[in-house]
Amino acid sequence: MSEVGLPLWLLAELTYRCPLQCPYCSNPLEFASMQNELTTEQWFDVFKEAREMGAVQLGFSGGEPLVRQDLPELIEYAHKLGFYTNLITSGLGFNEEKIAQFKQAGLDHIQVSFQASDPVINDMLAGSKRAFEKKNEIARLVKKYEYPMVLNFVIHRHNIDQIEDIIQLCIELEADQVELAICQFYGWAYLNRQGLLPTKEQLVRAERITNEYRKKLSDAGNPCKLIFVVPDYYEERPKACMNGWGSIFLTITPDGTALPCHAARQLPMNFPNVKDEKLSDIWYRSTGFNHFRGDAWMPEPCKSCPEKKKDFGGCRCQAFMLTGDASQPDPVCSKSDHHHLILKAREESERELALHELTFRNKKNSKLILVSKG
Ligand code: SF4
Ligand code: SF4
Repeated sequence: MSEVGLPLWLLAELTYRCPLQCPYCSNPLEFASMQNELTTEQWFDVFKEAREMGAVQLGFSGGEPLVRQDLPELIEYAHKLGFYTNLITSGLGFNEEKIAQFKQAGLDHIQVSFQASDPVINDMLAGSKRAFEKKNEIARLVKKYEYPMVLNFVIHRHNIDQIEDIIQLCIELEADQVELAICQFYGWAYLNRQGLLPTKEQLVRAERITNEYRKKLSDAGNPCKLIFVVPDYYEERPKACMNGWGSIFLTITPDGTALPCHAARQLPMNFPNVKDEKLSDIWYRSTGFNHFRGDAWMPEPCKSCPEKKKDFGGCRCQAFMLTGDASQPDPVCSKSDHHHLILKAREESERELALHELTFRNKKNSKLILVSKG
């Protein structure tokens, strides 16, 4: 096996609780059955061990991390350990008192996600009538407290045609960096893929407009950076998922399950839990983290492919979701025997599916999914 790297990037999914219900949420479909969140002390132990193992970046995500009442303590502890800390939030539940508290605790970075530039679509997608107004308020507070303004828009079929308005909104909010990320199809997004994947025509137009704005911003000396993330469903080669399995990313889920990526929980494998094992044993010795490390596991055509060091055979979760076998080449690759599944998904994106026909990520739907799975 190749040499094992350090878990430089720790993602702490503090909770699956969230006041919103985005139909593209990457949380597990069965989240309603997942309780027993780690305690404050257990998170402290995770941070300490991860830092000792060489972790440098710590992302607080969820669900909505703001619902954890101990978030200021977690931030402070991580900061004292020397982590660069990043809060990934929808903004709901945020206020000036909290942002001041987080600043005091040493939080380095905040990323606020928006659903759309149109308040009605934003709030419908979010499932909250106050979401858009609240996000604007938070974005302004982020600026006031001298954080870099980093906004994230998940782009899909129902908001991609408003890309111009989205960029305008970001400029008005004086964003420093905007991630225009076309939906990645995991969790609820995979369930809703047919209604979320933009058409090729929509994608080409959105990318052209983004490029035009990049030029305008640069000509005007505006430092705002627009990052356009194309969905791999329109590529012929897969993404280098997680920079390779068990290479630098370590995700800890709310109940302490350790994963090489946030979507891996769905794979038919056993993943260890920080309540039962030391983090270093999990990272270096567990089957879950070693199974797809390096390239010994690869079947053909990846095995003898000259590109295998570049993309590591793509995403294991995507291979599993589409083919039922996590050790297959990612079907995004045109060399995969299953690439026709991606072509079919592109064709399906031409069919109309209204916003209200999507399955929203909420407890009720999660419970229905659990019942249907028996
Ligand atoms: S994607 Fe939406 S529903 Fe999922 S955790 Fe984030 S804000 Fe909540
Ligand atoms: S065959 Fe495998 S390694 Fe080669 S480009 Fe495709 S996914 Fe990557």
